[in-house]
Amino acid sequence: MKNRQHSLPPHPSWPSLDALVRAVRKCRICRDEPWYGRPLDHEPRPIVQVSGTARICIAGQAPGIRAHTSGRPFTDPSGVRLRQWMGIDEETFYDETRIAVLPMGFCFPGLTAGGSDLPPRRECAPTWRAALFTWLPRLELLLLVGRHAQQWHLPQLSLPSHCIRQSVHQTVRCWREIYEADTRLRHVVLPHPSWRNNSWLKKNPWFAAEVLPVLQHQVHTLLVS
Ligand code: SF4
Repeated sequence: MKNRQHSLPPHPSWPSLDALVRAVRKCRICRDEPWYGRPLDHEPRPIVQVSGTARICIAGQAPGIRAHTSGRPFTDPSGVRLRQWMGIDEETFYDETRIAVLPMGFCFPGLTAGGSDLPPRRECAPTWRAALFTWLPRLELLLLVGRHAQQWHLPQLSLPSHCIRQSVHQTVRCWREIYEADTRLRHVVLPHPSWRNNSWLKKNPWFAAEVLPVLQHQVHTLLVS
């Protein structure tokens, strides 16, 4: 399979991916000058996994408290399930030369009063996302995990209206149209692998029967070729 080459040039502000990642890791926008709502009440810890050779990218929501503590993405039960869905082990998952992990918000956003994770900070994607993706020229598979990643990335595809700006359930129901929409950069839409979706997974066995085999085949193909 030929590798995909983006037509966009590297973002002019960043002479290299390393320089860009260093800037991301120093970012304190959501603590020091937030655009929306209250500032983060903890020290931001931007968590990205990226290299210019990655052919697979996982676009999730934002790190949870365990990832914030460990400094690595998906170091929690959601990560265990996501790796099962992809059919890969931890060593492969954390190999940044092959798999990038770019959530919609790079820092743990804090908790609601009820103890749930807050949504990804809205400052993050417009600040960093376009520049980072220009430095991923070999990308061929993009996993859109949950509503925030789907709402950001799917409008860039040419899709029937019933597949975009819908609930996660309706969007994942459209998985095949979305998967076929760009044959150079395949998009796979997934619900969040959190335990909170256990009942959805139980009620929708077609997801494991139809979507996961395609995902695993595509991941395996890109890892071995
Ligand atoms: S969430 Fe993104 S924009 Fe906000 S401080 Fe972290 S890296 Fe910066």
